[in-house]
Amino acid sequence: MIAVLRQDATQEQIESLCSWFREKGLDVHISRGEYQTILGLIGDTSRIDTDLLCGLSIIESATRVSEPYKSANRKFHPQDTVVSVSDTVRIGGGHFALIAGPCSVESGEQITTVAQAVQKAGAAILRGGAFKPRTSPYDFQGLGGEGIKMLSQAKQITGMPIVTEIMNANQLDLFEDVDIIQVGARNMQNFDLLKELGRCGKPILLKRGLSSTIKELLMSAEYIMAGGCEEVILCERGIRTFETYTRNTLDLSAIAVLQERTHLPVIVDPSHATGAARLVAPMARAAAAAGADGIMIEVHNDPASALCDGVQALTPEQFAAVAADVKAVRGALGLDK
Ligand code: PEP
Ligand code: MN
Repeated sequence: MIAVLRQDATQEQIESLCSWFREKGLDVHISRGEYQTILGLIGDTSRIDTDLLCGLSIIESATRVSEPYKSANRKFHPQDTVVSVSDTVRIGGGHFALIAGPCSVESGEQITTVAQAVQKAGAAILRGGAFKPRTSPYDFQGLGGEGIKMLSQAKQITGMPIVTEIMNANQLDLFEDVDIIQVGARNMQNFDLLKELGRCGKPILLKRGLSSTIKELLMSAEYIMAGGCEEVILCERGIRTFETYTRNTLDLSAIAVLQERTHLPVIVDPSHATGAARLVAPMARAAAAAGADGIMIEVHNDPASALCDGVQALTPEQFAAVAADVKAVRGALGLDK
């Protein structure tokens, strides 16, 4: 971090500021110019608040030169993190996984039927929402704990690990049999939830917020990792822009940017990104070509009667075709381990 001091800063003020930095464990490099004094702060500056510094009377500006996320940063952990899911599936570091299933669990029969179909087509992990963050309180809110039991049953029958969304830390007891806990876009910055999940001992699938920058996504991952969890999977699911022909705008560049900046696996959700079944296949192929470590797709046995997100759901047959395309893209590019 670099702090530029005001010209009228007295020697006494500068010394007192430097001792404060040293007390925080930082080395201070003082560079005195003819008109300006600049302090270079060396060490872990993640606990220093730049806004607070800028508010001090002797500081003109303070700028970070390194990222405030440390655990998620590739600089301090150059090798890719490989997340192991229930000892059978791996994601990251060249290991690719397809995650598929309905937006929400609607019945035991529905989730098991979809699970068997997507598994046959190549999906490694089953998704299904039990707690649904709906825009309207009058829309279907999910089956809650009962939905998780139905997912568990589908897991028992197929052997597929399951991922489902948590909305509140007080639901954690119900997630015992869940293999990956999902934090939805709307909760990406629910910091109390993130802190709690960092201590829960399970892999976390963290979705990018609707209006969040890549840096904010990484800072949210940092919250989870600060609690001791090293298995965080990041998910690009589209962000809100001025575009209206798609539900969100899929930021494919986030895959490459994230893989540069973090060692954590990065997956893509083309279903919520586009909001239209016909757009899922091209975006899934593009995500695979861009090097995503996984793709999550909504699949429903009868999209027209789905209780949630039916317009973006693929039928099992459509999903099978996408899975084959993704396999072909990865094969052609030599991405498979
Ligand atoms: C979901 O995956 O079911 C979901 C609600 O997605 P998002 O949080 O990305 O909107
Ligand atoms: Mn959905």
